[in-house]
Amino acid sequence: MPEAHPLYLQIALDSPVRRLFDYLPPAGVAGAPPPGVRVEVPFGRRTLIGVLVGCTTRSDVPASRLKRARRLLDEEPLFDAASLELLRFAADYYQAPLGEAIGAALPVLLRQGRPLYATETRWQRVPDAVPAGRLGVRQRAVLELIERLGPVTTADLAGLGPGARASARLLVQQGVLVEAEDRSAPAAATVTAPVPGPELNAAQATAVAAIDAALGSFAPFLLHGVTGSGKTEVYLRAIERVLARGEQALVLVPEIGLTPQSVARFQARLGVPLAMLHSGMGDTDRLLHWRAARSGSAGVVIGTRSAVYAPLPRLGLIVIDEEHDSSYKQQDGFRYSARDLAVWRARRLSIPVVLGSATPALETLANVEAGRYARLDLPSRAGGAGKPATALVDLRMHPSQQGLAAPSVAAMARHLEAGGQVLLYLNRRGFAPTLYCPGCGWMAPCDNCDARLTVHGGSRRLVCHHCGASQAIPFACPRCETELLPVGQGTERIEESLTDVFPGVERVRIDRDTVRSAAEFDVALEKVRSRQARILIGTQMLAKGHDFPDVTLVVVLNADQGLFGLDFRAAERLAQSIIQVAGRAGRASRPGEVLIQTSCPDHPLLTQLLAGGYDAFARTALDERRHAHWPPYTHLALLRAEAASAADAQAFLAVAANLAGPTLPRGVRLLGPAPAAMERRAGRYRAQILVRAEGRAALHDLLRQWVPRLDAEPSARRVRWAIDVDPLEVT
Ligand code: ADP
Ligand code: ZN
Ligand code: ZN
Repeated sequence: MPEAHPLYLQIALDSPVRRLFDYLPPAGVAGAPPPGVRVEVPFGRRTLIGVLVGCTTRSDVPASRLKRARRLLDEEPLFDAASLELLRFAADYYQAPLGEAIGAALPVLLRQGRPLYATETRWQRVPDAVPAGRLGVRQRAVLELIERLGPVTTADLAGLGPGARASARLLVQQGVLVEAEDRSAPAAATVTAPVPGPELNAAQATAVAAIDAALGSFAPFLLHGVTGSGKTEVYLRAIERVLARGEQALVLVPEIGLTPQSVARFQARLGVPLAMLHSGMGDTDRLLHWRAARSGSAGVVIGTRSAVYAPLPRLGLIVIDEEHDSSYKQQDGFRYSARDLAVWRARRLSIPVVLGSATPALETLANVEAGRYARLDLPSRAGGAGKPATALVDLRMHPSQQGLAAPSVAAMARHLEAGGQVLLYLNRRGFAPTLYCPGCGWMAPCDNCDARLTVHGGSRRLVCHHCGASQAIPFACPRCETELLPVGQGTERIEESLTDVFPGVERVRIDRDTVRSAAEFDVALEKVRSRQARILIGTQMLAKGHDFPDVTLVVVLNADQGLFGLDFRAAERLAQSIIQVAGRAGRASRPGEVLIQTSCPDHPLLTQLLAGGYDAFARTALDERRHAHWPPYTHLALLRAEAASAADAQAFLAVAANLAGPTLPRGVRLLGPAPAAMERRAGRYRAQILVRAEGRAALHDLLRQWVPRLDAEPSARRVRWAIDVDPLEVT
């Protein structure tokens, strides 16, 4: 018999160190456990929970120093091979530790080591057992509850107030109650017979047929259609086909897009158990839904960003709604793009993936242009509403008064008169972005950031929108004691000025200051739906997720913010917001009108957007990107560093640049080190190196060599640094 080789477990731990850790198998475990199970291990003085990635007979660590894992937490793997492969790819592509990627994919309770199938204690009566002595008040309450409900859980007992559980334990000791273990049931969604949908129009039918024909093979589609053009209807029909094949579908939605209504629509139309995954769910709920996805009992999973990792044994189709939405990219910690990983997953599984949007990301349009994605168009609104008439308001000829130019006020009066609602869009909350001293030019600064404080009238405070610091509004200039003036416009100020311009007209403001929860959002939306409010003022929040069918006029108050933004994506974001917010308004019987206030009416991006819509804008913007060597024609990674002193951040980046220098592959350039656009933020100094590469492979060749060197670099200890692959923001 051959001598048994020693066996080492390779374990991914949620630690910032970018490697796997080797352990000896737990005592008593013979043979190699399957990859994908959780393992409890000692780590320094702590105990961590990791995931077994593989086994090996060779370790770089001397056998004498290897520790023994404590125990296996699962009998069956939590991840199948394809899911583990997705996570390994994600970790490698985004330069993150595998344990961190796995952490993003696992429900919190599993990360904490709870069992996959939680067993729950239930307390129940022992038939015919009579209490020995007199019962206390609490004990009687416990028995009455069980009388009423039958066996109760710890959660049920908690309703009786503190001490109820101790009372139940006493009753167990007296032999009156027993504790029973119960495998809690999976998330059971109420399933009803599917409701049939409307008959598809020709464009929808073409789209569904194309997706249907591609089932069982890798095929990425861009489904391009404005809000209300019937994209969701296309998803639903395609998913019906997938379910009929006995497969599952994954639907990714933006953070704000997962409303009870949208889930109810999927549930009603498809008539299958549906699992939901988003950050607002309780830990237990999240585990139950994750489990329903994993076991295959949920036919459809609908979720936000991290649902891209949902375990789906029979996945047949992925849909990414509003694929341009920036919430698909995680901006801190493990920085990944759920959209891009979804496409990778679809390729790996040989299934179609549908990217839907009214305003596709320029990356996606470039993929269509290059023939990598097939384009499906829904050119008109399903309900038949026409395109809104769009015009520019030249702020040089018509200076704005309190944010509104005269032609905008006239149009508002006209639409209100005709019974329509009006939507004012301004992506800046607060009263005014600056508090200014006309005497000496002082502007209220944030003490922690290179930024000005925003004036908030309601709370009568100055607030920093970057670090959250706030202070009372000073009475006079701290330098010269002149009275201070708020300068510029925020949504709060616009709302206030409307009192003078349209007295007596009811309005509602929707931004992060007025709407802090889903419930408050509902209240605000109800004011709009019931037509109680005639004027809506809001930020980005209005451009997403909700339709305003009675809005007939949309005014974009300040387009110039976007035209001259620092980031190379500023114009794309602006065009998307304009089209999105305009697309939420109007219906067939009420054609809409859109006014865009700008000081630069000749700007080519605006004139293109007006003359030819988003497609024309995108062509111009893509040309600009090509000439300026920006994505999608180049590939970026951003190395960010921040430290208590500017010198430390710069010193680390200077070393980092040197570490990259000798190995720069062809076509790769380093831009920087340079201070970030806002160098000081929340009291820390920030600087960065932007890596720009002609080809993706070259970029990753560099990163694979560079990042381990950065990890090992001593000057890195004085900074916080992170690498962001395919960053959304580069300033
Ligand atoms: P999107 O997802 O593009 O915003 P939806 O699929 O939600 O569009 O469709 C918008 C509205 O039009 C919905 O109320 C939907 O029921 C309806 N609708 C969609 N397709 C059709 C159709 N072919 N015939 C009639 N109504 C439709
Ligand atoms: Zn002053
Ligand atoms: Zn600040």
